[in-house]
Amino acid sequence: MKAKISEIFHSIQGEGKYTGHEQVFVRFFECNIRCAWCDTPHSIGDTTRHYRECALEELMAEIRELWPDCHSVSLTGGEPLVQKDFIKALLPSLKKEGMRSYLETNGILDRHLAQIIDDVDIVAMDLKLPSSTKCRPYWEEHAAFLKVARQKEVFIKAVISGDTTKEDVVRSVELVAGVDPGIPLILQPNYFERKNGALDRCLDYQDYCRQYLTDVKVMSQMHKVWKIR
Ligand code: SF4
Repeated sequence: MKAKISEIFHSIQGEGKYTGHEQVFVRFFECNIRCAWCDTPHSIGDTTRHYRECALEELMAEIRELWPDCHSVSLTGGEPLVQKDFIKALLPSLKKEGMRSYLETNGILDRHLAQIIDDVDIVAMDLKLPSSTKCRPYWEEHAAFLKVARQKEVFIKAVISGDTTKEDVVRSVELVAGVDPGIPLILQPNYFERKNGALDRCLDYQDYCRQYLTDVKVMSQMHKVWKIR
């Protein structure tokens, strides 16, 4: 079995709870949705269909080389769970070598997650707000996904754009509170709209969310500030 891989590299995690930690990033090719502001268009096959096919041992050898001093291996994309059969094979190999796995996911493919959750260490889950992404709503999928993800460490990220509506934020809070109000929620002002009201919206929405959830932060996507991958 081989995976379609966009790129493998070492960098610093730029968003979420583990911002600032060194990681090996394995960027899986292709995604199951199309967000309006996708920041990795090369990984979803829209700009180019550039990827390489990588066998498990080949990938592990590259991860090993990049691993020293890293906190974890980020399985990112695209949407890594599109290739869940490969990930199911990869996770035990990471665990065997003492490498933590960190799954960055759009939080939609709950049945795929259920098949691999036993071997995942950390789930960094996106909430895709329809007013931000211009995609259809995924509330039911997100709720089902979160119920599976909370078997392990999970935190949630939501990008807030100038278009993000309060209605979507209210729905998000209901969703998270309905599963576990202690799950951390991180509101991320869209980097390209930070001077266009996105940061103020984040701060307003944070006040609202804190009434129902115990851990709500506003954090920028630092890799965009630092201009790193
Ligand atoms: S889920 Fe992520 S990779 Fe997929 S289209 Fe949206 S931003 Fe891009």
